[in-house]
Amino acid sequence: MDYDVLIVGGGIQGAGVAQAAAACGYRTLLLEQRELAAATSSCSSKLIHGGLRYLESGQFALVRKSLKERRILLKIAPTLVRLIPFYIPVYPHSKRGPWTLRLGLSLYALLGGLDRQGRFSRVPRAQWSQLDGLQQQDLRTVFCYQDAQTDDAALTRAVMASAQTLGAQLQCPARFVSADLDTEGATIRYRLGEQLYTIRSRVLVNAAGPWVAHVLSGVQPAPRRQAFDLVQGTHIVVADSPPTGVYYVSAPQDGRAVFVMPWHGQTLIGTTETPYQGDPAQAAPLDSEIAYLQQVYRHYFPAAQARVVESFAGLRVLPQGDSSLFDRPRDTLIDASLPRLLTLYGGKLTGYRATAQEVMQTLRRWLPERARCLDTAQLPLK
Ligand SMILES: Cc1cc2nc3c(=O)[nH]c(=O)nc-3n(C[C@H](O)[C@H](O)[C@H](O)COP(=O)(O)OP(=O)(O)OC[C@H]3O[C@@H](n4cnc5c(N)ncnc54)[C@H](O)[C@@H]3O)c2cc1C
Repeated sequence: MDYDVLIVGGGIQGAGVAQAAAACGYRTLLLEQRELAAATSSCSSKLIHGGLRYLESGQFALVRKSLKERRILLKIAPTLVRLIPFYIPVYPHSKRGPWTLRLGLSLYALLGGLDRQGRFSRVPRAQWSQLDGLQQQDLRTVFCYQDAQTDDAALTRAVMASAQTLGAQLQCPARFVSADLDTEGATIRYRLGEQLYTIRSRVLVNAAGPWVAHVLSGVQPAPRRQAFDLVQGTHIVVADSPPTGVYYVSAPQDGRAVFVMPWHGQTLIGTTETPYQGDPAQAAPLDSEIAYLQQVYRHYFPAAQARVVESFAGLRVLPQGDSSLFDRPRDTLIDASLPRLLTLYGGKLTGYRATAQEVMQTLRRWLPERARCLDTAQLPLK
């Protein structure tokens, strides 16, 4: 056997599993077809958060888990994950009124363990003029709480660097082609340039994000496929100077949540949610999405120039279920129904470490015993 754990996909989920596997001393190889964080993991809203709005769809366990992960990441990755003020302005047309927000923020603080990070307040009226040019007309109140922001691609690279320090290997750009599963493990073929390589691994982890089904189609015997939808989320970067915090607004067009955030000396605005079909590699911002985000931004920041200097689109993998597309659970779905193969669907950037822990628990039945694993909640990320 060449490896214990072979992972397909160098996004945050694959990197997280590589780190957790290497932390247990397993011989680990990760294959990435383009570059680390080339896909969804560089196109997120870059928030390490519990997800205030998931409270509305009753995803309390996810929010609690994510807030715990936020606490851990603030500790182990202080240069990559930082607390930042979030402002929620309330107008007569806002989707959520002050009482709903007060209730939601109280619950959010409770699920976060009532620590200092969970405190929220109202911004005194006398300070509204300092809120980055926020629309003051009809403004009723502004809530302020804290959540965290990161650089998603840098975080992914840091997690993979930690995995490599622990002994994991990275092949990049290397494309997974196919795998044959048997009782002992998997025979895996991948392409590096023109060359086709064949290796053996005890387990195969499919962390290919939006390509999850493509990878499964190369596996024999044919595994079960979880039905899922792809939803495109577009962000724009505008040349305006960055706001002092993250503004959490509801789009006047349809009430959807949109964030206006500081990003590398400019302003980042996102996101849209557009159902997507087709090749994940072709995902790209639509003109209508860019216009929608500009409209939201100009509505709340009337003096803004809103000149778009960059836009990018990422794809969410949302397993199909009973709820409507936009209320679907955002936690990772782990499928290990076929021996020696584990597949990840969806999930959050924030929860990558906890997901990797669950993955290792699941894989344990197919891997040699390890007396002790290093705790990834204690491993610094730089
Ligand atoms: C618009 C948007 C905003 C989001 N905002 C947030 C947020 O603010 N906070 C948060 O916590 N979460 C957020 N998320 C969720 C988060 O971004 C994703 O859960 C996470 O990035 C998914 O990571 P991944 O590793 O599963 O997938 P990806 O990052 O897409 O990685 C999959 C990798 O697999 C590789 N790959 C595919 N096929 C092969 C193959 N055959 N061989 C080799 N490699 C292959 C791809 O090249 C890719 O790099 C957001 C998601 C979206 C879409």
